[in-house]
Amino acid sequence: MAEVIDGNRIAREVRAEVRAQTLELKEKRGITPGLAVVLVGEDPASKIYVGHKEKAAAEAGFLSREYRLPAETTEGSLREIVAGLNASPEIHGILVQLPLPKHINPDVVIETIDPRKDVDGFHPVNIGGLFTGRPGHRACTPLGVIELLDRSGIAIEGKEAVIVGRSNIVGKPLALMLLNRHATVTICHTRTRDLAAVARRADILVAAAGRAEMVRGDMVKEGAVVIDVGINRKADGKLVGDVAFAEAAARASYITPVPGGVGPMTIAMLLRNTLSAASLWGEAGA
Ligand code: NDP
Repeated sequence: MAEVIDGNRIAREVRAEVRAQTLELKEKRGITPGLAVVLVGEDPASKIYVGHKEKAAAEAGFLSREYRLPAETTEGSLREIVAGLNASPEIHGILVQLPLPKHINPDVVIETIDPRKDVDGFHPVNIGGLFTGRPGHRACTPLGVIELLDRSGIAIEGKEAVIVGRSNIVGKPLALMLLNRHATVTICHTRTRDLAAVARRADILVAAAGRAEMVRGDMVKEGAVVIDVGINRKADGKLVGDVAFAEAAARASYITPVPGGVGPMTIAMLLRNTLSAASLWGEAGA
């Protein structure tokens, strides 16, 4: 039976470290990390996420600024707001909550963010940095997966890692992060032939497909580490991951639950990225 990786506990640890380092940054260098969260429109899930991010930022001792803009906001005025935040000395991290309303091109908005303040790690400069192994902000959810593995004492080097999902925010950046840590990485998607056979090769199997309980027990190699990024609401309102938990746990060595696995790590890593943006900004004297 697998050991369950407690993402809530690990996220609390990371957040406590961020809080302590924030205090130190304030005391030693007079810098208070500032995070600006921008929400356009009324998407109910986005409103909840943004609320959580603001609360977490305040708890970490950050300056937290929120911009709740109407759905009719134009791309031009959103870019002006982002440009203002780029120029603001009290803001070190800018997060534009996705998805944006249909009339706004998210790529254009993300490219407006100063890469040093792009704490979501979505700017092409930061993605390029990940690709070439150079410094820069990394996307929070995949970074959270790496942190869960590291803090659970699970070695990555030399392991066979299989990721189900190739999105720009989870699957692809995670593949690069695992590759940079010397795993042998396979990325699966909807055109992958015999997904089950590929998944069974994995020492580390990551499900990030957004399909409720699609990873069944027989897709898990005996002793594999199973990381479930998926968050799916079933018809009865229950929240489940992309992994059929009980079946997979019977074969895995470690497994993350949903909720309480990868989910809480995303905000923890956002805080860490913002703290590092603030401390680097000071260092650069910018
Ligand atoms: P996307 O919908 O952008 O991408 C899903 C990926 O999974 C695609 O690459 C798709 O393949 C692949 N896929 C879907 N169905 C199958 C299938 N049956 N077999 C093989 N591959 C499949 O999703 P995201 O990456 O944005 O999110 C994935 C999941 O993670 C969602 O449940 C989301 O809610 C959750 N999530 C959780 C976060 C957290 O904080 N814990 C943060 C972000 C996301 P193809 O490219 O061929 O279409």
